[in-house]
Amino acid sequence: MRVGIIGGGVAGLAAAYHLTKEGHFAEVFEQAPFLGGQASTFDVFGGRLERGYHHLFVSDTDITELIHELGLGGKLEWLESSVGFYHGGRVWDFASPMDLLRFKPLSFLQRIRVGLWTLKLQKTGHYRKYETVTAKDWLSKRMGKKGFEVIWEPLLRGKFGDFHDKIGMTWIWNKVTLRVASRKGAGQVEHLGYPMGSFGEVIDVLEQRIIQQGGAVHTSASVSKIVESDGTATSLEVQLDGSETERRGYDAVIATTPSYVFTRLAPPMPKEYQDKLEGISYLSAVLMVLVLDRQFTNKYWLNIADPDMPFVALIEHTNLIDRKLYGGKHILYISNYPSRDSELYKMPAEELMDLFVPHLQKINPDFDRSWVIEHHHHRVDGAQPIVGINYGAGIPDHRTPLTGLYLANTTQIYPEDRGTNYSVRMGKQVAQMVLDDAGSGISPAK
Ligand SMILES: Cc1cc2nc3c(=O)[nH]c(=O)nc-3n(C[C@H](O)[C@H](O)[C@H](O)COP(=O)(O)OP(=O)(O)OC[C@H]3O[C@@H](n4cnc5c(N)ncnc54)[C@H](O)[C@@H]3O)c2cc1C
Repeated sequence: MRVGIIGGGVAGLAAAYHLTKEGHFAEVFEQAPFLGGQASTFDVFGGRLERGYHHLFVSDTDITELIHELGLGGKLEWLESSVGFYHGGRVWDFASPMDLLRFKPLSFLQRIRVGLWTLKLQKTGHYRKYETVTAKDWLSKRMGKKGFEVIWEPLLRGKFGDFHDKIGMTWIWNKVTLRVASRKGAGQVEHLGYPMGSFGEVIDVLEQRIIQQGGAVHTSASVSKIVESDGTATSLEVQLDGSETERRGYDAVIATTPSYVFTRLAPPMPKEYQDKLEGISYLSAVLMVLVLDRQFTNKYWLNIADPDMPFVALIEHTNLIDRKLYGGKHILYISNYPSRDSELYKMPAEELMDLFVPHLQKINPDFDRSWVIEHHHHRVDGAQPIVGINYGAGIPDHRTPLTGLYLANTTQIYPEDRGTNYSVRMGKQVAQMVLDDAGSGISPAK
């Protein structure tokens, strides 16, 4: 079979890897000059770093298996994480159940109540009972208004902004179970995985393998149209490195772009499918990566539970990963998830820095702008699907109404939330779906 793949992020590359491993031809088109999409990297003081912070949870078995299969297992390390919670002008330790018991902003009874319900949540193996209720309603009813307002509401606001009260309880259930699965040892401390040398190395080896297995991978290669004939996707219109648009024919096409890009590329879809594509919205991510000459805090992950701060989390990468990889420098991500039309999203890097610095000084009063050796500003569109109630029913199928055209994007990852692990899983599953359909005569195959 010949399969055209739109997008050279983790899902597109995982699909191409599987198809070429099975003896088929896959051709990947990535519009950016680099591969990896949301998990792509850039160079920092001799090391490679993700544009947006990245780590793995212990439950991320699909990507872990892939990393081993690619011969990079020796590079994957599981490290003790440190989590903090900035509330009321100070940083609280927030990594283990004991930390919750010591968390004074809630009364002792409130802490017990939050702890017991969190434990119950962790023990619930299935998400369906949470599908129809918002996180706000479920959590404030069980954990109390104060417990919700102090702990959960800032987290929901941070990730989903104005949509925070619309988010389904399934999303929280998933986050809680993931984090617990990553806790190890008597202290129940969270351990996170990271491929030393960055996710960029995994992407590089994936590309090499696809090519060795007979596939093709193009960067700076933008797909402008999915062409159909008699209800079947037959070819792609692509522009390679700014040259003339050309048409390439395939037996099947897998699109891994966000849904709002897919609707621009694909022929008009039947209403029911189109409604699903348009029914799920996304938030973007705005990231400022500071390269510092000293440590900012001693936490890897610091949740910011203060609505007046213009960021929702600080991730000090070098509190998890050895800073020797970055010439001894310290790396701090400042993260937020605004909508594309927000002021924050549009703000240029220098203005963002002016906005952030006084707030960073509230968290660490010693902090001075002179600590910043360099800063890097990244925006990621389509970074986070907004996961409302009854989300599952609104997910578009991987098999689109057009024969031979498949969609594999982050809106279809559920009940889990987007993540490299699930893009690996989905890429492989959809690639196999293409092969199965070809075998059973659902789509044309050679
Ligand atoms: C800030 C941030 C932090 C994250 N942290 C983690 C983490 O800690 N752990 C984790 O596992 N995951 C994390 N993720 C999520 C993870 O990176 C994504 O879920 C995953 O990489 C998505 O891969 P994908 O291939 O499905 O989509 P994408 O990476 O979005 O890939 C889609 C690709 O399609 C390309 N494309 C779009 N239109 C066209 C076109 N017309 N022609 C050609 N190409 C096109 C895009 O350029 C893009 O490269 C994080 C994401 C963000 C934004």
